[in-house]
Amino acid sequence: MSYEEIQTFLEKCEKKVKPEFQKVEQWEFAHTKKVLEAFQKYHLSASHFDSTTGYGYDDLGRDTIEKVFAEVLGSEDALVRSQFISGSHALTVALFAYLRPGDLLLSITGTPYDTLHEVIGIKENPSSLKSFGVQYDQIDLKGNDFDEKKIVSYLQTHTVKLIEIQRSKGYSTRQSITIDKLEKIIKTIRKIDKKVIIMVDNCYCEMVGEKEPTMVGADIMVGSLIKNLGGGIAPNGAYIAGKKELVELAAERLTLPGEGREVGPSLGMNKSILQGLFFAPSVVASSLKIAILTSYALEQLGYEVEPKWNDRRADIVQNICFHNSEKLVRYCQGIQKGSPIDAFAVPEPWDMPGYEDKVIMAAGSFTQGSSIELSCDGPIREPYIAYQQGGLTYSYGKLGLMSAIQELTK
Ligand SMILES: *Cc1c(COP(=O)(O)O)cnc(C)c1O
Repeated sequence: MSYEEIQTFLEKCEKKVKPEFQKVEQWEFAHTKKVLEAFQKYHLSASHFDSTTGYGYDDLGRDTIEKVFAEVLGSEDALVRSQFISGSHALTVALFAYLRPGDLLLSITGTPYDTLHEVIGIKENPSSLKSFGVQYDQIDLKGNDFDEKKIVSYLQTHTVKLIEIQRSKGYSTRQSITIDKLEKIIKTIRKIDKKVIIMVDNCYCEMVGEKEPTMVGADIMVGSLIKNLGGGIAPNGAYIAGKKELVELAAERLTLPGEGREVGPSLGMNKSILQGLFFAPSVVASSLKIAILTSYALEQLGYEVEPKWNDRRADIVQNICFHNSEKLVRYCQGIQKGSPIDAFAVPEPWDMPGYEDKVIMAAGSFTQGSSIELSCDGPIREPYIAYQQGGLTYSYGKLGLMSAIQELTK
């Protein structure tokens, strides 16, 4: 298709998906209000942009950021640090903070995200939880929902220390977990086990819909700042939010027992983290609109998509199933070509640390690996699914999509 044909085609698509865009705008407004009120409640001022170095004692900005995040996320407490290298690192810190030798970790959303395989010991690693004597088991999803029967009988016959629930699908073919499904399973778990720690991998899900996991009974949740809550501004980092005692345990593990959250210099990043959160509702909204538009447009072009344009969304990820490796590669190359940074580079499938198959990644982003910026990736394996997410603004996202469609239909 030519540029003009694609433009006309997408304008038609936009008319069709308008009601969904309006829902997204309502969420955006509600989250924006929440963020603004949290900033005001904690008397944010320019002095909070000041930085600490060295140990990072008495970093007023950093401590206020954590209060603001907790408020926005509806959590008791939050740890928000640039010392977290990534979302996977924060998940790792949390798991090592809560689990002790002999404890049992249970995933109820099947195999966890690829980067956690060596952390847990699903794939051998001399530093895994398994090497410390932490046991692991998993219950797969049934269809696209929790296998409630199995979970109930498992909890009745085992003492589980921590249940891990991954909302976003990762590189799997399942649907992501909506907040309603999450709320329902947490209620069921609590009827049987009052003590088990319920931990949610909330990556890609923040500000999608009205509620966050800790508002529906999760004890602790984890996410990355180069995804939704960083708003494309935070240069790195992650958060762990939830019950105060669990946030404290994570802090003691991230830094050291006895110093915990009292240390950790902000190194000039406070303003970026705050500004990122400030923009997050709007950036998540434009990402959702791009996902909705992509879903409808690619379906019209004859491809399988998940979720569908008018499905209830749990995250900002849009899958397109190509059943063909060459099309997957071309689509990703088109996203790269439509990016602001490294548009001239042509991505090829490669071996990435922490991932089992070769992966193709289009990431023409300001921040390395940022996937709140328009990005698209996929493992080179059947059925050749592209996982697309992000879009800092709607128009930039749309231009990226146009470029991808152009490469695909060439
Ligand atoms: C992105 C993501 C993570 C963390 O990934 P990092 O690249 O390490 O930040 C973890 N779980 C899920 C489901 C994700 O989508």
